[in-house]
Amino acid sequence: MMLQSVISRTEVCKKLGMTANSGDKTVFDKAGCGVPDAYPAISAISRVACVALNVPRVFVSVSVGEDDDLRSFAGMSKRDVTACAELIVPEVNRAGILQIGDIKNAKRVSLQKIAAGLKAVRAVLAVPVVNEHGDTLGVIAALDTKRRRFTVSDRTTLKDIATNVSGMAGLHRAAVRHQVAEVELKDAMEALPDGFVLYDKNDRLVHCNRRYREIYKESGDLRVPGIKFGDLIRQGVYAGQYPDAVGKKEEWIAQRIHEHQFPGKPIEQQLPGDRWLRIQERRTNTGGLVGFRIDITELKRQERELSRLAWTDSLTGALNRHRFLELAEAELAHSQRHFRNVSLLMLDLDNFKMINDCHGHAAGDHVLNATCKSWQNQLRGRDLIGRLGGEEFCVLLPETKGSDVLVVAERLRQITEQQKLSYDGRAINVSVSIGTADYENIADTITSVIKRADQSLYKAKSLGRNRVETSTIEA
Ligand code: GH3
Ligand code: MG
Ligand code: MG
Repeated sequence: MMLQSVISRTEVCKKLGMTANSGDKTVFDKAGCGVPDAYPAISAISRVACVALNVPRVFVSVSVGEDDDLRSFAGMSKRDVTACAELIVPEVNRAGILQIGDIKNAKRVSLQKIAAGLKAVRAVLAVPVVNEHGDTLGVIAALDTKRRRFTVSDRTTLKDIATNVSGMAGLHRAAVRHQVAEVELKDAMEALPDGFVLYDKNDRLVHCNRRYREIYKESGDLRVPGIKFGDLIRQGVYAGQYPDAVGKKEEWIAQRIHEHQFPGKPIEQQLPGDRWLRIQERRTNTGGLVGFRIDITELKRQERELSRLAWTDSLTGALNRHRFLELAEAELAHSQRHFRNVSLLMLDLDNFKMINDCHGHAAGDHVLNATCKSWQNQLRGRDLIGRLGGEEFCVLLPETKGSDVLVVAERLRQITEQQKLSYDGRAINVSVSIGTADYENIADTITSVIKRADQSLYKAKSLGRNRVETSTIEA
């Protein structure tokens, strides 16, 4: 009976991307395949058997896999090999042992057939090759050219040698099975749609799939077996793989190594070109680490778009009231902590009701949008602009104070009235009144600063509109 779950040589070769040799002598004809070639061991054993039993020839035939027999028959004619394989092997399988002192005088028909098949052989001692489960894997036969009486010691020696052949065949099967399992595992990893990487317990890269290297295209060449995670990250940073690390390389490296050493929740990682990954790392039972890289660029884009929609006013693109107040409050707190100035502008379009009345609501919308865009073009990246309601806007200017605020406000006022706006071919004149207020003391909140800016705005309106007024804190 054959061993269970044994793979044929053809199958193994196919899995390993090699061609099977049709001859019996070699297991694989390609060097460096990683599967030990069992043939040299088998022929060495048969040479030892020749010496041990003092015979000129020893025939070995052993199965090392399904449909995969290894044979050693050095020095034998083709006819003798065929006779051994076709006549001696079945006879040993049937009888458990074959011992013929003089084959020319054999009485039994089956033995006479063997005698007819073997040309230069007179005496035969053959025993089965059996594995540890009692399965017969093959036969080993000592062939003498002279008549001979085989002793008990000869039989014991040949059985011992058969045990060695069996062990060798078992090792070979295990090696092949191991190799095939490894190839299958790598195949499965390659087939994964996500990046996959495996580190050993010393944090050296063992394997990563093609997708993983594609994802880290700026440092794909570094991602080779043997490299230590720390070195990979450091070299990746210097190769420009991680935009997040710019300006804080060492801090970023330390943080990433820490996350890797103590993997927990998934982390998000930014790559060049605004690509985003979700990284999930887990320790293995042997102290290694497996990591998955999932491309979440599209998800991130959608997430940002949703946030933008939720945070901004759809007509003007300015922040909506809620988001403006949230960000303004955070900016105020930050500025308070760092003793920096913050100023605020309240802007209200003048006589906007009249614009709606004269030109229609759609024209009014157009004016709101165009005017807000022209303001946004004047502001710095860190400035915040929000539409607090109707035709009323608020601008927060971090690190700006006093006369600088008035300069900004005046510029916004001017570009508002200088706009050449028209709707349906009719020109529309627009102006804005602006009230300003500075963050004055530690007790100030965003509400109190807005309130003062509002008071300034009210003053601007009452003093004739299209002007900038500033608040003076009451003693
Ligand atoms: P003042 O100079 O005192 O600010 O006068 P005003 O007409 O601008 O002020 P008022 O508060 O009387 O009118 C504001 C108008 O703005 C009334 C409202 O219909 C209009 N409005 C508010 N939101 C929108 C909008 O989204 N689109 C348009 N087209 N009009 C709007
Ligand atoms: Mg108004
Ligand atoms: Mg108003």
